[in-house]
Amino acid sequence: MIAVVLVFGLIIGSFLNVCIYRIPRGKSIIYPSSSCPVCGVRIKWYDNIPVLSYILLKGRCRSCKSKISPVYPIVELLTAIYTVLMYLKFGLGIDFAFYLIFGYMLIVGSFIDFFHYIIPDRISIGLAIVGLVYGFVMHELVHSLIGFAFGFILLLLVAILGKAIFKKDAMGGGDIKLLGALGTFVGIKGVLFTLFAASLLGSFVGIVLIALGKTSVSQRIPFGPYLSLSAILYIFMGYQIITKIYGV
Ligand SMILES: [Zn+2]
Repeated sequence: MIAVVLVFGLIIGSFLNVCIYRIPRGKSIIYPSSSCPVCGVRIKWYDNIPVLSYILLKGRCRSCKSKISPVYPIVELLTAIYTVLMYLKFGLGIDFAFYLIFGYMLIVGSFIDFFHYIIPDRISIGLAIVGLVYGFVMHELVHSLIGFAFGFILLLLVAILGKAIFKKDAMGGGDIKLLGALGTFVGIKGVLFTLFAASLLGSFVGIVLIALGKTSVSQRIPFGPYLSLSAILYIFMGYQIITKIYGV
């Protein structure tokens, strides 16, 4: 069964690549089929096999030999690993289905944020709707609504404070909507954990990048990937972490 789940994850990962590339460019994610962004040649099905084709083609387009971004196989692998981990945690069922949609949307949102410094509403608001539907299905709609309000208002306050202190936008509207959306899944405790862990992770990576001379203090860093990663971390082990901290 794990092999089936893994292959399913790889195929979805391939579709997520299409979303990551096309959503910020305002293109349809359904049609047409993929083509090389450099020479425009349609990619044949046998050159579009997740991860494998990238390795066989040595990371280059078959017709024009231009480099294919390693982001493609990375997204496919990440998606497959996430899918298998969720299967191991939840087994097949309703939780599995909703958490797959959750993670898939976060992978798309994170990579778009990473490349374009935006989190599209289709991702943040879309995820909030998915979370509320999940809450409704599980008879915990109130819990999801409170999670949304808490995440949204918390980051909004941080943004207002940040602007008052640093006189510039510290937090984008996309991040605020995203933390609200995450809140529909992880609730109040999860939102607190997510914001704290994301700030720590973001600062750590920021300091390392500045030390390596890869970025400067003034440069923007996308916060979405850190929020997403932290929320996923919370789903996997947040409960254990919180019990350890509070000793309850
Ligand atoms: Zn090409």
